[in-house]
Amino acid sequence: KLASREFQREDTIVTVGCASFGGKTIPVIAGPCAIESYDQLYQAGVTAKAAGAAMLRGGAYKPRTSPYSFQGLEKKGLEIIKAVGRELELPVVSEVTDPRSIDLFAEHVDMLQIGTRNMQNFVLLKEVALSKKPILLKRGLAATIEEWLMAAEYIMASGNNQIVLCERGIRTYETFTRNTLDLTAIPVIKHVSHLPVIADPSHGTGSWRWVNPMSKAAIAAGADGLLIEMHPNPEEALSDGPQSLTPENFSQLMTDLDGLTGAL
Ligand code: PEP
Ligand code: MN
Repeated sequence: KLASREFQREDTIVTVGCASFGGKTIPVIAGPCAIESYDQLYQAGVTAKAAGAAMLRGGAYKPRTSPYSFQGLEKKGLEIIKAVGRELELPVVSEVTDPRSIDLFAEHVDMLQIGTRNMQNFVLLKEVALSKKPILLKRGLAATIEEWLMAAEYIMASGNNQIVLCERGIRTYETFTRNTLDLTAIPVIKHVSHLPVIADPSHGTGSWRWVNPMSKAAIAAGADGLLIEMHPNPEEALSDGPQSLTPENFSQLMTDLDGLTGAL
């Protein structure tokens, strides 16, 4: 299998602008769950950059559980993230949910995210591969490590090996946290695959309070990077406010990680 260590012994390094995953540095991707306005994303970007984040994130097409929840700014959101990324010289990533909008994404972002709900959307996986952009492939809500690697295999079999895997928590019987961040997946993936793997303790826990300790734990477990939700004002966030760090807490996290990430 293309994603296996047997097929390739050396670690794959995925480079997105000045961020590289799978090498010596441990890049942090930060930003709000959803892009809400130019000002909101710009403020998040300024904080991210000043604290040492390597990439800016923000959702433009949001896969919300309820159809009545904020669905994202769509094309306008992509225009905003492209403009903010250029202004701050940060590479940007956003989630693509529909094969019909891949070309639009390719014009606006440096990396395409496949969300947990689409991990086994095989049509989408095959189509994103063709974009030739680096892919951030999140683990499915209830996917085994094997199923997750097979999703990566779909992308690789379609000719794109620029994949960063992202552990974002799985469904378990535990309800105190939104998901259960499966940190064991990190050393397992590093053992069986050459692809880089990062952790998303924001979706993995669902509460900003657990993001700092679980970020440290993920790096200790060997994560090649982190994805952190951060909002200029989490209380007013249109999505995932409870798990979003304030700018202050994000800056504190980056200070705490200094020396662990090598990215600062
Ligand atoms: C996100 O990154 O905002 C997101 C929707 O993530 P997930 O697909 O992991 O739920
Ligand atoms: Mn989110």
